[in-house]
Amino acid sequence: MTKVVPPLLTMINELIATPSISSVNPSFDLSNLNVIELLADWLETAGFSVEVLPIPNQKNKANLIATLGSGSGGLVLSGHTDTVPYDEGRWQHDPFKITEDNNKLYGLGSADMKSFIALAIEAARGLTANDLKQPLIILATADEESSMSGARDLVKRKLPKARYAVVGEPTNLKPIHAHKGILMESITITGRSGHSSDPSYGFNAMEAMMDVMQVIKLWRNELQTNYFDDRFLVPVPTLNFGHIHGGDNPNRICGECELQIDIRPLPGMSLTECREELTNRVSKSIDTTNYKIKIKSLIHGTESMLTPIASAIVSASEKLTGNPA
Ligand SMILES: [Zn+2]
Repeated sequence: MTKVVPPLLTMINELIATPSISSVNPSFDLSNLNVIELLADWLETAGFSVEVLPIPNQKNKANLIATLGSGSGGLVLSGHTDTVPYDEGRWQHDPFKITEDNNKLYGLGSADMKSFIALAIEAARGLTANDLKQPLIILATADEESSMSGARDLVKRKLPKARYAVVGEPTNLKPIHAHKGILMESITITGRSGHSSDPSYGFNAMEAMMDVMQVIKLWRNELQTNYFDDRFLVPVPTLNFGHIHGGDNPNRICGECELQIDIRPLPGMSLTECREELTNRVSKSIDTTNYKIKIKSLIHGTESMLTPIASAIVSASEKLTGNPA
């Protein structure tokens, strides 16, 4: 008997029933290889040529690239194979089984976003390489919810670029063609501690940080005046003061203070420029003979993205979903 690709709901159910939680917390983190294996099996059956690419230094994680047809360009349908962790006992349905309720399918990863990969396979059902002028590529990535190592490894491999990619994140079928970037930075100021009774003993890092914060606030105002894009719900770049810690005791001059901020740049603002500007302004705002400044990135960061509204992929997505981008 020839092997066939299982029905859509069976594929969704099997993906949901195969836990693939990823987390920066090692006690929650699981392998995604079982999900990759299921996908590889279905995609090979569907006539795709399948490559499983292990992630360096993470032996229990892999990406998958499945290609139907050949040549350059083509369309990528991309999804991540992992889910976030879940709260035991707080689900009204079994998180690892598809339950249909009120015309919706419940399960961990049913919306975000293992089902999308099953839907991509379903959309290609019956297609052969001969039907395609350019390749159709189904991409399944690892660790989107945690380290993003899957996507990062794909970038490193310098694979040929497709003409377009559609990422099937849940957006209520509204095509999203622009996204803010993200960066998280830590600023540490080291002064010199001493007894509070005589301020001349030290250099108060907390007081220096107050100046730095003032400068960062002014920079934020400038950014929000210079950059505006009303396609976004929050039409300006944001900069959040998210964490601060300094000193130990009221009667000691604060010797060290750390501030952590989160910046969400609009398309048109590069991460490198943001980092350079931050470093520049912070170093100018305090006396560096008495204070040491250390600025470091807490995460790798993600550039903003923008696909022109007039591009073929955005028009096609608008037409197919009936929703404006
Ligand atoms: Zn997602």
